[in-house]
Amino acid sequence: MNRELSRTALVTGANRGIGLETVRQLDRAGLDVVLAARDVARGRAAARTLGSPRIRVEELDVTDAKSVAECAERLADDDVTVDVLVNNAGIYPTDSFFSLDEDTVRRALDVNLMGAFHTCRAFCPDMVRRGYGRVVNVSSGLGALTGNVPSPAAYGITKAALNALTLVMSAAVPGTVKVNAACPGWVRTDMGGGGAPTSVERGADTVAWLARLPDSGPTGGFFRNRRRIEW
Ligand code: NAP
Repeated sequence: MNRELSRTALVTGANRGIGLETVRQLDRAGLDVVLAARDVARGRAAARTLGSPRIRVEELDVTDAKSVAECAERLADDDVTVDVLVNNAGIYPTDSFFSLDEDTVRRALDVNLMGAFHTCRAFCPDMVRRGYGRVVNVSSGLGALTGNVPSPAAYGITKAALNALTLVMSAAVPGTVKVNAACPGWVRTDMGGGGAPTSVERGADTVAWLARLPDSGPTGGFFRNRRRIEW
């Protein structure tokens, strides 16, 4: 059997936007895909639009370690191993620094940083044991310290932290588990808005590419349009 065809990918926040499109692209590439959504009904409705028998829907709220652990347990009970983890769930508070309240910062950290922290801790140890894994953290150029781009404050801070998590994680696992961050560009989704220049297909392309890296592929990098960018 083609080994890639037997791989399973889990995508968080996959009921819409870049997450859903990543599910579509990975399914089309022949992977089994777990479409994870915090609202399972919305997840099921989204999966129906793709109409593929290889897509399984799971409830997973990335801010809730118990929800992540329960999802991991259900998958393990069904002998589903997660080979590819796409940390896509994200929120975009738009407040500037001096109008931010503490709750907004904590909420953004919970989703954009701790979400990936919880899922990596739940799914990566098995990748290390099995000697194969791909982790893609869906980040943003707005979290790049070298980007010089004005960013909504909490969003930039949390995506910079997600980039740091990417580097820390990539150093904590063997090279058989590749951990990278992707910037999808400014994408036409609910988050990006209708005026964004990048289609959701193109936005998800680098994410799906990193999810399917060959063994010779990079780790600990930050990529946009399949090209390495500065942190
Ligand atoms: P989107 O359309 O707003 O979708 C965000 C997804 O995250 C939704 O499915 C949402 O679920 C989910 N989510 C939010 N909180 C969650 C939680 N606690 N647990 C699980 N899922 C949760 O955004 P998008 O444009 O597709 O963005 C996807 C990723 O790309 C994000 O990480 C974003 O920061 C990044 N990104 C986007 C752009 C852009 O221009 N669009 C640019 C750079 C980076 P609900 O439907 O339940 O709310």
